[in-house]
Amino acid sequence: MTATTSQPASPAGMSLTAKILIGMAAGLVVGVILNNFSTPFIDKHIVDGLFGMVGKMFLNALKMLVVPLVTFSLLCGVIGIGDVAQLGRVGGKAFVLYLGTTTLAIGLAIVLAVLIGPGKGFDMQGIDTSGITGKTAPSVWDVFAGIVPSNPIKAFAEGEMLQIILYVMIVGIAALMLGKQSEPFARACEYMNELMMKVVVIVMHFAPYGVFCLIARTFAIQGIELFVPVLAYVVTLVSALAIHLFITLMVLLKLFSGLSPRIFLEKIRPAQLFAFSTASSNATIPVTFRSVTERVGVDNSVASFTVPLGATINMDGTAIMQGVATVFLANVYGIDIGPTGYLTVIAMAVLASIGTAGVPGVGLVMLTMVLSQVGLPIEGIALIMGVDRLMDMLRTAVNISGDAVVTTIVAKGENKIDLAVFNDPNAGIIDDDDLVIDDEAEAVLARATHERG
Ligand code: ASP
Repeated sequence: MTATTSQPASPAGMSLTAKILIGMAAGLVVGVILNNFSTPFIDKHIVDGLFGMVGKMFLNALKMLVVPLVTFSLLCGVIGIGDVAQLGRVGGKAFVLYLGTTTLAIGLAIVLAVLIGPGKGFDMQGIDTSGITGKTAPSVWDVFAGIVPSNPIKAFAEGEMLQIILYVMIVGIAALMLGKQSEPFARACEYMNELMMKVVVIVMHFAPYGVFCLIARTFAIQGIELFVPVLAYVVTLVSALAIHLFITLMVLLKLFSGLSPRIFLEKIRPAQLFAFSTASSNATIPVTFRSVTERVGVDNSVASFTVPLGATINMDGTAIMQGVATVFLANVYGIDIGPTGYLTVIAMAVLASIGTAGVPGVGLVMLTMVLSQVGLPIEGIALIMGVDRLMDMLRTAVNISGDAVVTTIVAKGENKIDLAVFNDPNAGIIDDDDLVIDDEAEAVLARATHERG
């Protein structure tokens, strides 16, 4: 893999992360300006037209990487580990930690929301609650039965992450059982894995423009004045997300891996920015994966499994939103859901986080399920809908941070982390040199063309 450890900075002298940050800031400014000067022409051709198109292209480009990247890196991971017992151990630890962090997250959210008490004295009048429909809770049994794909091609085509993970793992184990016969297959997977990582680098070079358009469009549509009526909800939610990210997760990281939280946060920043801009843990998988392997130093054999699994079943930020929203709406309606109600919310939010994919807005849909379970009117969602896109961006950044922390803890426990990479501030940084086709590759290509000719 091409970790550009000691390469000079790009000709522009700026790292990709810096460019993405500039794209975000510019997007915010342009979006807020357009929101204030909205005209039908601007809305149609600039906000929805140009920004919508570029943003969608960028999102699609990220999504197109997910399935092939997960498939080949996971095949390499399984074949590389070579030991089914170790695979089971990695899976078991990751699963327990994912459930544990989500439970901590929602517990914290509820305690904080009860202490701050957002929504007390709120006036529901004038809020349009039409068109909100509830979602019923999936049964635990259905969630688990759905992990086995009846048609793997369909699972791949629809990006069903849990089904893909299971199927690819079984194929990888079968390859291990075939032993020597699988060597060409293993080499092909390794090559495809390298190739896909290169494709990730190419796509990431477009990130500053994609991120600019996504953020500009969001703010042009939303504006910022929407926050005022539900400010207490927003403040409580943002505080809980920050405490979980900077305190809970970092204490866990330090405690279980001994690694420096400061360096860790710095290394996963690009993944957080992508998650923030796309509001999708799934679309961010390629970037989270690249950050933990090339920047943090986690071995592919662990990350290839824990990152896609986390993007699917681990949603700490989403659980926090559901906890805060439940307390907020209980206050708004003056309904006391009591300790059993809160315990139900914790159980439901953990279950919801396993059963739902990491795509934009799904947390709000799953909230209807949590609310109806504790007897709160689901129409209350109308109150927080207006700010949900921005809250979704923040909680998705926390979601993928949880994935990265658990991945790193599991890798450290298995001795599958390269500390030299972790401690090298430049490891895995992407710059413009990454797009250069090197001389050696050109020579190989020229030879191949010559021979064919
Ligand atoms: N957008 C979140 C994610 O992809 C899910 C949600 O809370 O809506 O992780």
